[in-house]
Amino acid sequence: MPKSLLIKNGRIIDPSQSLDAQRDLLISDGHVADISDSIDAPDVELLDAAGLIVAPGFIDLHVHFREPGAEYKETIETGARAAAAGGFTSVCCMPNTSPINDNSSVTSFIIERAKNASVNVFPIGAITRESKGEELAEIGEMKSAGIVAISDDGKPVLDSGVMRRAMEYSIDFDLPVVDHCEDCCGAKNWSMHEGDYSALMGLKGLPGAAEDMHVSRDLLLAEMTGAHIHIAHISTAKSVEMVRLGQSPRSPRHLRGHSPSFHPDRRRRLSQRLRYELQDGSAAQVARRSRCCARRPARRHN
Ligand SMILES: [Zn+2]
Repeated sequence: MPKSLLIKNGRIIDPSQSLDAQRDLLISDGHVADISDSIDAPDVELLDAAGLIVAPGFIDLHVHFREPGAEYKETIETGARAAAAGGFTSVCCMPNTSPINDNSSVTSFIIERAKNASVNVFPIGAITRESKGEELAEIGEMKSAGIVAISDDGKPVLDSGVMRRAMEYSIDFDLPVVDHCEDCCGAKNWSMHEGDYSALMGLKGLPGAAEDMHVSRDLLLAEMTGAHIHIAHISTAKSVEMVRLGQSPRSPRHLRGHSPSFHPDRRRRLSQRLRYELQDGSAAQVARRSRCCARRPARRHN
């Protein structure tokens, strides 16, 4: 990106200024210098953005870069390039790499590798050692090394006592807890929503209650401890309603609705609920799937 650039004829959308209009935008020395109906700036590189949207950089709170451990799939550098190509300027990378980011040496490795990346890369540390849900990870040391949140994403923390301690620690270290809510209800290796279609297809399903139970537990724990939690990849309308009921200024939510394996009725109810929550401002954030996650079929997580 050149330090000075004139972007002409684009539709500028900037919620921070309540701006949605066609304008010219001048970037000078890496900063926005002017936004006006028409700007002329000789000797500056010109980009005609007619028909395009010009917006502040997006932030992806939930990506799965594959470094360290699976660099043949994706590195921090290539993942960051993919993010930049999609308009994202900052990403938070989940800890389920190999090794898992459950200690400060892995956190430091990621931060070092991200120094020259195309976008800002903010690591998220594991809640528990190896994300096994048993013992807390080195949360304080990871915080000192640079993590911005904790999560055992991809795996639920089933032990309520461990999650309670994690939430208490999260307050001490001023870190949000990104929560993977999936009480397994005795179902393992499921591949779709449990219902008529899973029975018809002979596939093992997971009922919506598996998520709802876990969401309700963690909302209660968050209320008790005062922790700041993000409920990731919500997929049932009931969970969204519970989050809405548990909303407080201290608990913004991370709502993600997706899974091609879920029954169309469940997805429809979810999208209707999400639309409603977004319209009335109750839903705080919607994240996309990272490229790496999106390639994986019929599972919510890798
Ligand atoms: Zn994830």
